[in-house]
Amino acid sequence: MVMRIVNYTNVCVAQCDYCAFYVLPNQNGGYVLSRDEVFAKIDELVEFGGDLVAFNGGFNPKLPLDFYCDLFAAVRERYGETVEFYALTVAEFVFLADRARLTYAEAAARLRDAGVHWVTGGGSEILTEDFRARHAKWKYTVRDYLEAQRAIIESGMRTTATMVIGFDETLEERLEHLQRTRDFQDACLSDGYDGLFSFLCWTYKPYGTAFGGREIDAREYWRHIALSRIFLDNVRHVRTSVLTQNEDAFRALDYGADDFDLPIEDEVTQKAGARIELDLEGLLAIPRRLGYETVYRRAERPAALASE
Ligand code: SF4
Repeated sequence: MVMRIVNYTNVCVAQCDYCAFYVLPNQNGGYVLSRDEVFAKIDELVEFGGDLVAFNGGFNPKLPLDFYCDLFAAVRERYGETVEFYALTVAEFVFLADRARLTYAEAAARLRDAGVHWVTGGGSEILTEDFRARHAKWKYTVRDYLEAQRAIIESGMRTTATMVIGFDETLEERLEHLQRTRDFQDACLSDGYDGLFSFLCWTYKPYGTAFGGREIDAREYWRHIALSRIFLDNVRHVRTSVLTQNEDAFRALDYGADDFDLPIEDEVTQKAGARIELDLEGLLAIPRRLGYETVYRRAERPAALASE
């Protein structure tokens, strides 16, 4: 996939200590992209040959759920099926449902009716209550997160699993995250849902964050991808992170990953030190040299929404 993460606002009240992206509502430097700015970013993505947008921003208390529904409906109307988009992360979805005083099912129905097909599993980082209390205590609990994700699936939209490693999490916490993901997927499948489309793991970028720290090396990342591939045998695709591992991401194909995207922008990780390479053919040459055939993949419309 070739994709662009569109960060529509950097204003956020969650104050995660591992984030270099946000500003508080009354601080200087906060922004909200206009609709024209969003369209311009999508047009530029299309010129690059991409067709997947991932909207991601902060918990901005001035932007209600209706703002997002209007934006997503406008994107769907302008681009139809030629561009697919991940509308929000699960964490942002929880915030918006909470602010709108809606159940997760009601909030999911609003998004779906606005033309949304996908809400990504972003914002999970490490799914243990202790990790969240240490680093992101206003980013909701693991229980909130998983209940919201289940409601998204039940609404007919699709979602993905994510994980971020390389903070101060213990190996037990990494395993707990994988166990919770596996259990969640088992429950979805046994209830007749497709569940999580894929599992994407990326690595923490520490630069400019309050928490700081150092990056883990590529070998640790590859080992974790291998572990995830074995552990999550009920999730079909494992996606490696070109955004945070650059050239090293492709070696993860040897460790069980079978999916990746080439991002052309993500301000959140770029502010924390991520480097984006725009020579897409140069990037694709790396997996080809490793012996892989690269195939362009589109984010498909979910089967449950196919008749609409
Ligand atoms: S990681 Fe997301 S939720 Fe946390 S402070 Fe940054 S923008 Fe806000």
